Amino acid sequence: MMTQPIRIGHGFDLHRLEAGRALVIGGVTFEHDRGAAGHSDGDVVYHAVTDAILGALAEPDIGQLFPDNDPQWAGADSRVFVAEADRLMRQAGYAIGNLDVTVICQKPKLGEHKHVIRRHLAVLLGCDESQVNIKGKTHEHVDALGENRAIACHAVVLIRSESAASV
Ligand SMILES: [Zn+2]
Repeated sequence: MMTQPIRIGHGFDLHRLEAGRALVIGGVTFEHDRGAAGHSDGDVVYHAVTDAILGALAEPDIGQLFPDNDPQWAGADSRVFVAEADRLMRQAGYAIGNLDVTVICQKPKLGEHKHVIRRHLAVLLGCDESQVNIKGKTHEHVDALGENRAIACHAVVLIRSESAASV
């Protein structure tokens, strides 16, 4: 991959919500009547952020790096995926410029947990909290997201070359 001063990446993730599962969003377990179905812990924020970073690096996506038919990732804490994306980013000579995350679900409200999610990501990615933004949106009661049957997340990341940091 050619080293450029800055590169941008986008990640999107969606999980069905099902009764009897924990709802984990950005490493925070929410009190809710259902949780995200998936092979790992179904953390949409960590998955979208992982894919955004991998996208910025032009690496294979999260599903290719961590196949969902691999028992190693069953019930996995999705922190491991973010940590691997971070490792690949640093190996390529990049660091986080900024990260903007939008979580879409009808319920629950992210509220004050947004600050905790932001801190989790800043720690995982070795950056300042001011470089991370977390936004929450409902889906206006429309479609699966609005009917509390799914949760989705978009993440946009800008990474900057450490060697070109002074450019
Ligand atoms: Zn996912």
